[in-house]
Amino acid sequence: MADLALYRKYRSGNFSEVVGQDHIVRTLTSALASGRIRHAYLFTGPRGVGKTSVARLLARALNCTGAEKPCNDCPNCKTAINSSLDIIEMDAASNRSIDAVRDLREKVGLAPTQGRYKVYIIDEVHMLTTEAFNALLKTLEEPPAHAVFILATTEAHKLPETIISRTQAFSFKPITASDITAQLGRIAAAEKITITPEALEIIATSARGGFRDAISLLDQLAGAGEQSITGEDVRNLLGYSAGEEIASLSRALAANDTTQALEVATRLNASGAQAAMIATQLAAQWRAILLANCGAAPATDDVVRELSTSVAPARIAEIITSLIEITRSSWPQLALEAALVRLTVPAITVVVAPVAAAPAKRTPSTPRPEPAVSAVRVSGNADASATDAPASELWPKVLVHIKAHNNSLAALLQMYPVEFTASEITIKPRFNFHRDLFLKPANRTAVEAASAKVYGGPIKFSARTEEAGKPARRTQSDPAAELVSSALEILGGEIVD
Ligand SMILES: [Zn+2]
Repeated sequence: MADLALYRKYRSGNFSEVVGQDHIVRTLTSALASGRIRHAYLFTGPRGVGKTSVARLLARALNCTGAEKPCNDCPNCKTAINSSLDIIEMDAASNRSIDAVRDLREKVGLAPTQGRYKVYIIDEVHMLTTEAFNALLKTLEEPPAHAVFILATTEAHKLPETIISRTQAFSFKPITASDITAQLGRIAAAEKITITPEALEIIATSARGGFRDAISLLDQLAGAGEQSITGEDVRNLLGYSAGEEIASLSRALAANDTTQALEVATRLNASGAQAAMIATQLAAQWRAILLANCGAAPATDDVVRELSTSVAPARIAEIITSLIEITRSSWPQLALEAALVRLTVPAITVVVAPVAAAPAKRTPSTPRPEPAVSAVRVSGNADASATDAPASELWPKVLVHIKAHNNSLAALLQMYPVEFTASEITIKPRFNFHRDLFLKPANRTAVEAASAKVYGGPIKFSARTEEAGKPARRTQSDPAAELVSSALEILGGEIVD
């Protein structure tokens, strides 16, 4: 593959060049220095984090006669670089049968041709068949003095315990975004590739800890012949939004900051980002947060580290569930906004604010007056007189009708207080762009049609943002709101005709 050219070229030449696996490098170099060599090593970890590169370094170092191992200069190192007979690499994914291991067992007794050790690197070792594992185990139980096995796998849990217990295991970590960024920067400079810091950062984040993927992406971008690679080039290639924007969306969700969340979503939308892709990126970030929170995986970047310790697991799961729904929605943009509002204002419910009740004069301690409804009309009655105010308690039924056709619109309508007059329903969203969205002809028509069905006559639907400073919503401690909320829950999903 052409786009692996840079990866091969910049493979670590010695242990000091290995990126992001300091704990492993330290242990291996001190073992080499003291001569405490094991017969079997197990390298586990995600793909593209340097397992094979370190295995090759170790193989070379074992036979190196220089001072700093591998020196890449002694005769053994020079031979090893051009494929030595003493370093045997085997890909278990394509050689999983007993025959491959049998062949290995037959030759393992032969003395090394040049160096002191014969080193077997078995990649993707979890792919071996049970028979092959058993054969390998026999070799590991009684290895010839000159044999060293380096087993590498992305799926250590698939290895038999008997194999694992015969090895010294090293767990390779996903490489941090900042380590990847720094290393990519060095490669770009050496290759005279002009690339912005933002572009480097996006590549690093999208690689999710895998160095090989990051370099391959850089290779692809450089190969496209751009004079200078920008963040936009990378985003275009990936269909991605800026990592910072995704991080600030995540932070807004964690902080229940509706305004910030919607502002970022609007900005991303304006820049051409697809809502479903935003949701996918967010979901991936929150998955990482969940894994870090449970201790199932280390935090891969700053936002993951920060939020994994500050957000409760149940809340993280709730956020992920909502984000997955967005990716399945037929109207992702609206679904994203509705989800951002719902997730940042968890206690919100439908609030009816009857005009005739003069809410401005009430104090919170006075009981809420009955909604000013002179006549409650049932559906089917098309003879609504102009003097009758629509029943506010029928609003949830209107929402149920809308929900049947447009779940996201209903969810968004549910977020805000509504005012009723005889012939008009006015919703009071907190944000201008939600007002504009409600006033879109298709949405207005949908609300008016549903209202006409429920109230039995023509009702005008309008939207107006609340004046600044005035609370746009009440919480569930409001008894009226609570009532409507439970009514909605009861009605939820039921078709009322
Ligand atoms: Zn050497």
